[in-house]
Amino acid sequence: MDKKEKEKYKIKLLKKKEEIVEKLSEAYTESKEVETGIAQDLVDKAESSYTKEFILSLSNAEREQLFLIDEALKRIEKCEYGVCQMCGHKISKKRLDVVPWTSYCINCQEKAEEESS
Ligand SMILES: [Zn+2]
Repeated sequence: MDKKEKEKYKIKLLKKKEEIVEKLSEAYTESKEVETGIAQDLVDKAESSYTKEFILSLSNAEREQLFLIDEALKRIEKCEYGVCQMCGHKISKKRLDVVPWTSYCINCQEKAEEESS
């Protein structure tokens, strides 16, 4: 995968991450009725080092997705992005376009889902 493509997926991942963090900080603000400004602080902290409270306020699915996004961003830095973490084969670009945070190729994903169901 060339640099330009990696950059494209990186932007996608960061955008998705931002979306989740934003949505969550909104939900957090509504439920706690915190003053303006605190929510922004939360987002800032979450961007750098996910505070414990923030993580605890996430649903499992959202936590999982943020984790996967971070893992994918790490793989981009290590130049391992786009490679299946199970079988080592390349993940199709079509799949990466839809789920850029995926760690597995379609075959391994299906296998994993079969085993867990
Ligand atoms: Zn695989």
